[in-house]
This record gives sequence, C-alpha cells and structure tokens, in this order.
Amino acid sequence: MGDVFQFMKLSRNPGDKVEAAVRKIEFKEIYTPLHSVDAGDQAGRCLSCGNPYCEWECPVHNYIPNWLKLVKEGKLFEAAEMSHKTNSLPEICGRVCPQDRLCEGACTLEQGGFGAVTIGSVEKYITDEAFKAGWRPDMSKVIWTDKKVAIIGAGPAGLACADVLVRNGVKPVVFDRYEEIGGLITFGIPEFKLEKSVIKTRRLIMEEMGVTFRLNTEIGVQVTIDELLEEYDAVFMGMGAYKFMKGGFDGEYLHGVLEALPFLINNVRHSMGTLPEGEAHLSMQGKRVVVLGGGDTAMDCNRTAIRQGAKSVICAYRRDEANMPGSKREVGNAKEEGVEFLWNRQPLGIGEGADGSLRLHLAETRLGAPDEKGRRAAEVVEGSEQVIECDHVVIAFGFQTEAADWFGHTGIKTDKRGRTVAPEQQAFKHQTSNPKIFAGGDQVRGADLVVRAVFEGRQAAEGMLSYLQVW
Ligand code: FAD
Ligand code: SF4
Repeated sequence: MGDVFQFMKLSRNPGDKVEAAVRKIEFKEIYTPLHSVDAGDQAGRCLSCGNPYCEWECPVHNYIPNWLKLVKEGKLFEAAEMSHKTNSLPEICGRVCPQDRLCEGACTLEQGGFGAVTIGSVEKYITDEAFKAGWRPDMSKVIWTDKKVAIIGAGPAGLACADVLVRNGVKPVVFDRYEEIGGLITFGIPEFKLEKSVIKTRRLIMEEMGVTFRLNTEIGVQVTIDELLEEYDAVFMGMGAYKFMKGGFDGEYLHGVLEALPFLINNVRHSMGTLPEGEAHLSMQGKRVVVLGGGDTAMDCNRTAIRQGAKSVICAYRRDEANMPGSKREVGNAKEEGVEFLWNRQPLGIGEGADGSLRLHLAETRLGAPDEKGRRAAEVVEGSEQVIECDHVVIAFGFQTEAADWFGHTGIKTDKRGRTVAPEQQAFKHQTSNPKIFAGGDQVRGADLVVRAVFEGRQAAEGMLSYLQVW
C-alpha cells in the first residue's frame, strides 16, 4: 500500500499552463502534458475512498480510483484498457470535460479543501501515452457477426456507438456530412482546448478496429434514409443540435453580426486548410469585437477572436459571473488572455454608425425571481442604456435540436423542443419510435456535453446489440 497521506505532501498539479502572452497568439492546447513521474505522483494523491463520489458524478461512470492506482504503479497499458471499458474517447473527455462540475468537483480531497486529484489530466495522459507506446484496443477475441449498422453523425455520440458495436463484432459504417470525423469536437471546440491531431489519431485507431467512415456524405442529400433502412439491419442517429438561437432584437442581420458556430467552424477549417472554395477566412484582426453570451461557445468565440489579433474583445452576459453557464476554468482563461467582461448586460438592438461600424445598445440588468428551472431571470434596469461602438458582434446564445425533413415519413417522433424521442429506460435503450432507428447525444438531450453524448452513444449501442440479438 502506498503513502495514504501523499495528498498532504504533494499539492494538486493539473499540468503547467502556457503563459497568457504566449498562448494568446497561437492555436495550440494551453495545458502541457503531465510527464510519467508527475502523473504517477498525482494519481498517488487519490485516497481510494470506499465510496468514490467522482465515479458517480462522472457521466460515463469511469473506474477512476482503479485506473489512478494502475498509473501510480506504472501500469500504463492496463490503465488504458480499463479506461476504455467505460469511455470511448477518454483522451478527449480528459481535455474538454468541465471537471470542476463533474468528477473533480466531487473528489473527497476537493471537499476537504486539499485540491481535487487531477483526474482529467491523468485520464488524458493515460491514452495519449499508451497510444504513443503502441497500445491498441484488444480486438483479438472479437467474434464477427454478419449484422450491418449505419451511423449518421461522426460526433462523440456516433463514435462512441461505433466503438461499442465494433468491439462486439458488428462493423459499423459512419456517415457524416463534414470532411472530417468528430462533429463539434472537430469543428466547434477550438484547438486551444483540443488539438485536431488528437482526433486524427482516434480516427486511425477506429479504422484499425474495423469502423468505416463515409465522409462528405449527408443523409437526406447524397444518401436517403430509405436507402440506409434498406441496406442496414439498424441505424443510429447522432446528428447533434445545430439550430441557432436568435436574440430577437433589431439589427441581428446586419453585416458584421455573426453567428457563433459558423465563425468557429470557419476558423477551424482555415487552420485545417479545408475552407470551401470561395469562402473567405473570417478574421477579427484589428477589429473591435463584442461577443454576446455566457456559455462555453461564447468563451471559445472570445478566445478565438483574441488569437486572431482583435483590437479588443468584450463579452457581455445578461446575468452575473456566479450565474454563468460556462465552465469557470474557461472564463478564468479568457480573462487572463485579455477578454473584458460586462456582467448583467442585455442587448436591446444593434444599429449602424455613419462610418459603417456597429452600435450595440445594451441595458443593465438585475436578477429577479427564479424561472421554471430555478434560474433567476435577468430584468432590465430602466434608464441604464449604453452604446458600444464595435466592428463585429458575435451572437452565442446556444443551439437547439430540430427534426430533419425525413423524420415524418420514417415515423421518428420529436418532443416540443425538437429533440428526438429515444429514452434510455425501455426494452431496447435509446430506440426511437421507428424500431430500426436508435438515437443519442445532443439530438436527444439538446445541446450538452461531449461526455454525455459518449454515454448515450454507448448505451444506444447496447440497445442495438440486444435488438439485433447479438447479445
Ligand atoms: P455533434 O458533435 O454535433 O455531432 C453531430 C454530427 O452529425 C456532426 O458531425 C454533423 O456533421 C453530423 N450530421 C448531422 N446531420 C447529418 C446528416 N443528415 N448526415 C450526415 N451527417 C450529419 N462540450 C464539452 O463537454 N466541453 C466543451 O468544452 C465544449 N465546448 C463546446 C464548444 C462549442 C463551440 C460548442 C458548439 C459545443 C461545445 N461542447 C462542449 C458541446 C459538445 O461539443 C457537444 O455536446 C457534443 O459534441 C455533442 O455530440 P453529438 O455527437 O451529439 O453531436
Ligand atoms: Fe472526469 Fe469527464 Fe473523465 Fe468522467 S470523463 S472522469 S467527468 S474528465
């Protein structure tokens, strides 16, 4: 047994963070990887609590204390094997999960004021280093079946579903309209949180395992759902949530006002060299930028604009800092990189100045009575209007799901918020109202987190394996 008091001698270290002055001019991950000694030492801070709350708060219920112990003992390949038993994308969750709200927030050491075990950094370390050292998922005992499954969407939900299916002898074909796999982890989340080489490595591993990707192929355009239903024994949909939420104020359609996701996707494609012919790079260099919103997408827009060389970046949010939906870690990073925050501000409208600049009208707000979800509504303070002159306004109010044109004739039901109905609690988990079609991720939950999409993709694969009588 190791030193159970290691947590008192050694403080928490999630890895070094690149200095703000350096990182704000480059699109690279800002946390340096843990070295093997540090990873072992950090893993050794775990108390191996009898009742590991971290596991319960982790949406995929990772066996956290078990793989921490293996890392402490230097058993990297065994740790990688165990980590993949519950998570299909551990190196990605280790990078982008809001750990402060999930596993690390629940760590007993955090509750005791000693600083949580650096679970996310160690999870990332395990898979990154195991892949580099030649570890690959063990497919030697897989018995292949003749079942054929199509997956629509190569985002985290689709990839996780493919991972579980292929490990159980069903070779899936994954269709995506984009030119690369990953969904929002490739095209939404910027490189300073997750470098794209990480996803390319995962693609190679999945192809080696027997997954086929058919990219640049949109279901409903190049291939119809009827063709999929004809050719395959079952279909999984992990098509995400892409309906832009508008602000509903004047001036939203003015030149210079941008939607968050097209702005981020354009920048990722620019750095990947895959911008479609005729599409210009949307650069904020030398511009005065205001980002509206307080979630992770808003933070990613702020920090992208900073790295593009914006003259100034202001982030305006209608509630206070304590009530922001975004990860506190990312808000802190944005502040360090030079983003100015205006809390308690509500946009009233956008006008045009004589010189072609934009005039953003904001009012101050105060927090009123809680809404139906218990969140306190922001109320405008009369007479508090201010105008900010800027060159671009980026609107980052979130995304909703919506039904595809072909849902109707395939009998797929959606709820009043456009989410596909595919509950976990039924005979075949995540089956839709068409028995041959399953669904999961943002398409079912509404815009959420990578790790929850992974969980639902895995659960749906289990539902499909039962439906196909493989299990
Ligand atoms: P998606 O990732 O959206 O993937 C859906 C895929 O389906 C896409 O590739 C799409 O092209 C494809 N598709 C859709 N329709 C079709 C069709 N008809 N034919 C073929 N392909 C189709 N979560 C975190 O945990 N941490 C973060 O830091 C974080 N940051 C984020 C930042 C931004 C800017 C955004 C927008 C989201 C962020 N999220 C974050 C949320 C997270 O990315 C999503 O919850 C997650 O990617 C959802 O996975 P998914 O597989 O359900 O959908
Ligand atoms: Fe924590 Fe996310 Fe990893 Fe679970 S998947 S252990 S919540 S970082």
